[in-house]
Amino acid sequence: MLHISGDRACNINYGPSLPAPILTSEIGFDIDGVVADTMEAFIRVAREEFGINHLKKEQMTSYWLEECLSMPTDTVAAIIERLLIDPFGVRLEPLPGAKETLTRLAARGRLTFVTARPVRKPIEAWLKALLSEVPPGAIEVIATGCQSAKAGVLKELGLRYFIDDHLETCQELYNEGIGAIVFDQPWNRKSTPFLRIKAWKDLQAIVGQT
Ligand SMILES: [Mg+2]
Repeated sequence: MLHISGDRACNINYGPSLPAPILTSEIGFDIDGVVADTMEAFIRVAREEFGINHLKKEQMTSYWLEECLSMPTDTVAAIIERLLIDPFGVRLEPLPGAKETLTRLAARGRLTFVTARPVRKPIEAWLKALLSEVPPGAIEVIATGCQSAKAGVLKELGLRYFIDDHLETCQELYNEGIGAIVFDQPWNRKSTPFLRIKAWKDLQAIVGQT
């Protein structure tokens, strides 16, 4: 089931019309909070390496962790640095169904990931290891270094749709005529006009079966 945030799915204010199915070559993916269960890794690193035991994913009600978690800002920054530099070392895991759905999509075209991470190589290596059945050359990863650069990059790439967990990014994409799809997370549960998916299996309904 697709979950449509807002009042009525038939009146969704969605930018470009939504064809069914969307082609693999038309859609791009954020990585953290969409493909990767980055916050689970954050909580685990906080516990194992910093002795912080009270964190739960449901407490993460803001994209900006220092706003919603009672822990020192420099500790938040140190954990984020670990996640950025060493996704294998922190045992970053995919969200359920991400690997399977992306592998199926890759059979029909090139996969494009656009992340706001400042460094590309560590997460690119992680993605290529995760998607081990996909030829490495069929996986493109672009690291913009900031959320606000995503819309321009997507337009240059000619992508019409993008899945992200950051609401402000979704709004910016919408403003640029790109179809934003929100991947549901505790930190993005405001009412929005964007299509919202709650799990990777829901994406099958949008992109079609293979
Ligand atoms: Mg994200």
